[in-house]
Amino acid sequence: MKNEQYEAIVVGGGVGGLSTALSLSRNGHKVLLLEKNESPGGNCSSRKMDEYTFDLAVHQLTGVEGDGQCGVVLKDLGIRHKLDFARVDPFLVLDMPDRSYTLPGSWDGVRSSLVKAFPKEEASIDRFLAKMRAIKQDAMMAQRILYGANSVVDELLNKDVPLSRWLSFPQGMLSMLAEGELTAEKFFRRYIKDDKLMSVVCGAWPYLGVPPSQLSGMMMAFLFGGQHMEKTFYPIGSSQRIADVFVESIEEHGGTVRLGAEVKRILVKDGRAYGVELANGEQIHCRFVVCNAPAAYAYRELIDPKEVPKRLLRKLGKMEKSVGPFKVYLGLDYDVSKHGLDHHEYLIYDSYDHEENYRRMQEGYPSSLSAYSPTKADPSLAPEGHSTLILTTMFPWQTKRDWRNHVDEIAEEMITKMEKRLPDIRQHIKTKRTLTPEKLKAYTNTTDGSMYGWANSVSQVLIKRLSNRSPIRDLYLVGHWTQPGTGVTTCIISGWMIGNLLQKTYGNVPSMHSILRTAQDALHSGFRGLQ
Ligand SMILES: Cc1cc2nc3c(=O)[nH]c(=O)nc-3n(C[C@H](O)[C@H](O)[C@H](O)COP(=O)(O)OP(=O)(O)OC[C@H]3O[C@@H](n4cnc5c(N)ncnc54)[C@H](O)[C@@H]3O)c2cc1C
Repeated sequence: MKNEQYEAIVVGGGVGGLSTALSLSRNGHKVLLLEKNESPGGNCSSRKMDEYTFDLAVHQLTGVEGDGQCGVVLKDLGIRHKLDFARVDPFLVLDMPDRSYTLPGSWDGVRSSLVKAFPKEEASIDRFLAKMRAIKQDAMMAQRILYGANSVVDELLNKDVPLSRWLSFPQGMLSMLAEGELTAEKFFRRYIKDDKLMSVVCGAWPYLGVPPSQLSGMMMAFLFGGQHMEKTFYPIGSSQRIADVFVESIEEHGGTVRLGAEVKRILVKDGRAYGVELANGEQIHCRFVVCNAPAAYAYRELIDPKEVPKRLLRKLGKMEKSVGPFKVYLGLDYDVSKHGLDHHEYLIYDSYDHEENYRRMQEGYPSSLSAYSPTKADPSLAPEGHSTLILTTMFPWQTKRDWRNHVDEIAEEMITKMEKRLPDIRQHIKTKRTLTPEKLKAYTNTTDGSMYGWANSVSQVLIKRLSNRSPIRDLYLVGHWTQPGTGVTTCIISGWMIGNLLQKTYGNVPSMHSILRTAQDALHSGFRGLQ
């Protein structure tokens, strides 16, 4: 296109879009990022309510320090030194009906905690932990093979993976493919027979949104491995700080970030994306577009349906979306970390049976509740001596007891559950706000208020998630609706990888892929010319 003002336009300033835009800007591309909201970050953002700062969504991150993969990627993107993270350890306390389990964020710590609680299960705990560690290493090797050589993954592989593991990799890969078909229930049962232990090691399932009978076992294993091998952190300054640092750095590298700029259409002609049209009618052209707006919405609302293969639209119609968040943000005039909440985050369950907990949530009741207080890690988020507490449960878009009609009642039920740990909490509430799946949808355009993109069930994760390549030329997708999937660090890593891949395609030094692509383009336009 002759009037191209930018090489790349990134639609959406969630962490996936920000990371892609920074990666491309650092590689010398002229990038424009368009975000509909007045502040960047999407789910990874926060807002001030009265005197308190609350994260919209994010409560903890794995692997952002030391040799954690995201930490190394942040370093490669040139921003690691601009961010501070507080280590969260133990990363989770599970409050079950009869007792609590504290889960430290290290292999040794979690081993001794589990063995102490389940002494008769020591051998199965060891077999289970060894398997989790092996999977983490196999995943890194698979990544190296799928995405090609890059200095970051190679550095991590050299540190973490012994030669013997490389030698057994083909066998490891085959079992990973087979295990990739298993739910967390089926996969973890191979190692753990005790029902309560099983419930504890699957206790973090709400971070992925579906219970063990539906959840991909591989995703649960990655989450478990990440939390214990790569450690868990909270970003100082709240999650907004991450998004702000990305924007600052994109601009430092010559990129442009426009906030309050809603894209109405991705422009497509002859099967090729060539720009966008904003809600105010302005058109901007470019060489290629990367869409970070939620894919389920983008394929339906931003792209002319005539340009999308019907087969893909039918597939999207059948795919399941994840649940949405129902949150209560509380600003309190006392410090909860000194009155019963010693650790960063608690998951409070009505039952050891996660299927039952999930069934109740589908009916519209908060049978699983996450409670976290970031002011322990970062006291600057509240006035001195005060604290914040964020309560989260999850509901599908449609529930038997419709959450839309019971917002205050549900918020009260969630606070009542907290009274077990914080008996005086009601006397200390200064600020109280709620977030429903509907409000999240209005904020980020996430279809049906989905908090993690597609549900993380076996048939919708990793390489089975939507491809980052669209069927439209020069249009790519990034973010948690696409491969590899859910989570802030996962989206940062995938944005960085996609930026690097696009550099190979659109960069100045032609790669084999770009040569093939140019040849394909020539054939394509020749063919269209004949039509
Ligand atoms: C309640 C909740 C808690 C979570 N907790 C954690 C956690 O503790 N740790 C963790 O790692 N992950 C967590 N996650 C998941 C994590 O936040 C997401 O996986 C990740 O942030 C998704 O990033 P993304 O790049 O896909 O973009 P999104 O965050 O979905 O951002 C997409 C962006 O596109 C913009 N956009 C949409 N349409 C348009 C348009 N037409 N024009 C311009 N811009 C547009 C949106 O405004 C938004 O900014 C949580 C998610 C939720 C909802």
